[in-house]
This record gives sequence, structure tokens and C-alpha cells, in this order.
Amino acid sequence: KLHNTILELKGNIRVFCRVRPLLPDEGSNTDTKVIGFPTATEALGRGVDLLQNGQKHSFMFDKVFVPDASQQDVFVEISQLVQSALDGYKVCIFAYGQTGSGKTFTMMGNPGNPDRKGLIPRSLEQIFETRQSLKAQGWKYDLQVSMLEIYNETIRDLLSPHKSNSFDNGTPGKQYTIKHDANGNTHVSDLTLVDVRSSKEVAYLLDKAAQSRSVGKTLMNEQSSRSHFVFTLRISGVNESTEQQVQGVLNLIDLAGSERLSKSGSTGDRLKETQAINKSLSSLSDVIFALAKREDHVPFRNSKLTYLLQPCLGGDSKTLMFVNISPENSSLGESLCSLRFAARVN
Ligand code: ADP
Ligand code: MG
Repeated sequence: KLHNTILELKGNIRVFCRVRPLLPDEGSNTDTKVIGFPTATEALGRGVDLLQNGQKHSFMFDKVFVPDASQQDVFVEISQLVQSALDGYKVCIFAYGQTGSGKTFTMMGNPGNPDRKGLIPRSLEQIFETRQSLKAQGWKYDLQVSMLEIYNETIRDLLSPHKSNSFDNGTPGKQYTIKHDANGNTHVSDLTLVDVRSSKEVAYLLDKAAQSRSVGKTLMNEQSSRSHFVFTLRISGVNESTEQQVQGVLNLIDLAGSERLSKSGSTGDRLKETQAINKSLSSLSDVIFALAKREDHVPFRNSKLTYLLQPCLGGDSKTLMFVNISPENSSLGESLCSLRFAARVN
């Protein structure tokens, strides 16, 4: 029996696992139950079992969402984390998993459908509501949004007004450079920052970014699943009576699909793309686990993604990783890889 010890992540890093339901056209997969949820007290709501060739692999996380869990059920568990960005914390929430496992559903959902709205629209609604209610205590918040995509280790500004800002066979129109200042603020050269006053304005920008991504998608063959999407909300608050100030950041990241493409099968651009994704996802895991183990050296500089997010991953920032899992039999191998990624055992 393969034994996976529980990874007790210390500090401000948590890992949640979400198993999506079978989709209507996956019905034929239901006869074999390959993913199970232990009901023993200790593992209740935290354990996932995966059955492969008669062998059971067990994993534990900070929280496990079963296929029936609603978007609201998931949001309830992160709402405090979102709130802490208004208190001046730097927060990162990632969605990790193979293409089709529910990352975009978890992050964005169907924004037009109130029940199926994802974490990004829900978080923004909560932030604007809280901002309104804190006014009575003298708090005034300025909020700024940016959205970018990292593809082949290259940044693309999804809110750029310039048409030239597109990938042209992987070659960007512009080279964005990342700098961190002494206060832990990140500056990406030429990145569009938009002041936002309502969740409606953010919804409009998300829509614009989605369009900008899908343009790339037709050019670059499913590019959106091969790139990381980074939504950033910069929060700057001042209390007009006490003169107290806070600076928080909320990053919500829909990662590139984690599926392994066979190296032998991919050539040229596809191979380069695969290597870039593998490199950035493994750098992310290296960074998160170095932080969890409080190692002295954290290899932030090994990828664009980790370097971009450096100030929001270390120190007293808070990180949450969703591991999204597809319940189909045919995804078993990838699901096992994702669970192992998240529960990395040494
Ligand atoms: P990914 O972004 O990881 O590639 P998606 O979020 O696009 O995956 O999900 C793949 C499909 O599964 C989509 O049609 C999506 O609507 C559906 N889906 C994912 N998660 C859920 C869920 N929790 N409930 C219902 N449908 C879901
Ligand atoms: Mg997606």
C-alpha cells in the first residue's frame, strides 16, 4: 500500500482540494468510483482517496470540497482570506490542476449566473460591500486592478489598450519588466492599472480580459489553458480620523493546465510551451514548499510567475492553493499527479 503522510503545512500556506462533478457527457464513467471521501472523523472533510488498479492512495488537505459543493460553499471558506487583504495583507489564491479539472470554474465560474459565479466575482463583491460599510468608521479605500497572462515566460497585459500588445507566434510586442521596491510593492513596466469603484466595473474588465485572452487562443491553439492568468487587486486604505494606513494585495491566479504532454510527442513551439509550463509550475511548488519548510533560500527567481508574486508569497503574506481534480476514470493518472504535487512528500 502506498502511504502518503499528511503534509502539515505550517504558517500561512493552505491547500484545498476540489473535486468537480461528472459532466453530463461523462456519464459512462460513473460505474467505477475512483475517487472517494473517507468518513472517519479525522479525515472527514479533509481526506481524498484515489483508487488505481485496486490500490488506494490517500491524501489529506486543509479542506476537501466534494463534487456537490457549491460556489458559495467554496467562497465561505475563503472569505476571511479575502477580507484580510483589506486589513493590509498580501494574499495569493491559486487554482492548480489539469485542463478540464475546474480551475476556471472555481476562479471565474459563470459570472452571468448568480449560483455559478466563481471566487473572483464573489471576492470583489465582498470587498466593495465591506469598503462601503467601513466608510462609517472613517476608512477610505482606493482599489486598482490589473490582469495579465504569462505564456512561455512572457507577460501579456490583458487590459492594454494597444492592439500591438499580443503574442505573435510567442513573441510579445513588448517586454514587461518586473521590479519590487523596498516597501514590497511590485511594479511591472507599462502594465495597465485601472482604478475601480464598483464590482460592476471589475466585471466589465474581466470580460475585456477574457476577450483579449480568447483572441490569443485562436492564434495560439488553446492558449488560455497553456498560460497563467493573474488577476491582481491593489488595495490602499487610509483612515481619515486615525490616519492609520493599510496596503493590501489580492492575487487570484488561474494556472496553466498541469497535464504532462509527452516530450517525444511535442516538437517546436509545443515543446517550448510545455517546458515553460513545467518549469513555472515546478518553480511554484519549489517556492511554496521552501516557504512552508521555512528554508533560508527560496528560489523565487526561477520563473516569471514566482518572481512576479514574490512579495505576496513570502513574509506575512497568505497563500491558498486549490488543487482541482476531475473525477473521470480517464483522468486518474493526472489526478494522482495533481494530488501528489499538492501533498508533496519527501
Ligand atoms: P479548467 O479551467 O481547469 O480547464 P474548467 O473550469 O473549464 O476547467 O472546467 C471544465 C468543465 O467542467 C467546464 O464545462 C465547467 O463548467 C465544468 N465544471 C468544472 N467544475 C465544475 C463544478 N464544480 N460544477 C459544475 N461544473 C463544473
Ligand atoms: Mg481554464
